[in-house]
Amino acid sequence: MFATTLETDHHTLPPLPTPPVADLRLLEEVAAATAGVSRLEMCIQCGTCGGSCPSSADMDHTPRQLFAMVRAGMRDEVLRSNTPWICVSCYHCVVRCPQGVHIADVMYTLKSMAIRVKLYADSTAPDFSQTFVDLVENYGRSFEFGLATRHYLKHFPLRLPGMAPKGLGMITRGRMDLTPHRIEGIDKFKAILARAKELEAAS
Ligand code: SF4
Ligand code: SF4
Repeated sequence: MFATTLETDHHTLPPLPTPPVADLRLLEEVAAATAGVSRLEMCIQCGTCGGSCPSSADMDHTPRQLFAMVRAGMRDEVLRSNTPWICVSCYHCVVRCPQGVHIADVMYTLKSMAIRVKLYADSTAPDFSQTFVDLVENYGRSFEFGLATRHYLKHFPLRLPGMAPKGLGMITRGRMDLTPHRIEGIDKFKAILARAKELEAAS
């Protein structure tokens, strides 16, 4: 009898609307294009990344906002955002993310995607990225002070005085070095990079 009632209820229900299906294609595309496992789908929107990021003040969107936009399928807005270009790969956010999202690697992926479709609003962004790469190739690691001063001197010299207090604060708190430090074994590192470029050119 009980089963009959249930069956009857089932048949008398009006057709239910199909629940909205999130368009996760952009999220899946970004995750697939990221080296290794991005864990991007694990983001819980806690905002720890933005709170840890020394560059967030210059970003159009914090990493948290950007990842929400990726999940929402906002392709154009994501690829036009300056955020991945302003990211200096310091990995502060990566070591603090409670979900182990590979944030810096995702930023590289978004830059590559934006270059492919020429969708970056800030025309100085690729130059910023190239300066970063030049520094890493020269010292084997990032040098944020050199990166910021070179970029602002070249593109926004009038903004440099306004940046000084922030830069000074980061230096005095030990979050940024005033001089670059070359890694040990830089010759081996350069040889690896040269081989990687050869392989890339051949592929
Ligand atoms: S810290 Fe990690 S989990 Fe939190 S918002 Fe950023 S990416 Fe998402
Ligand atoms: S790796 Fe990039 S996004 Fe993360 S804290 Fe550093 S600059 Fe910000």
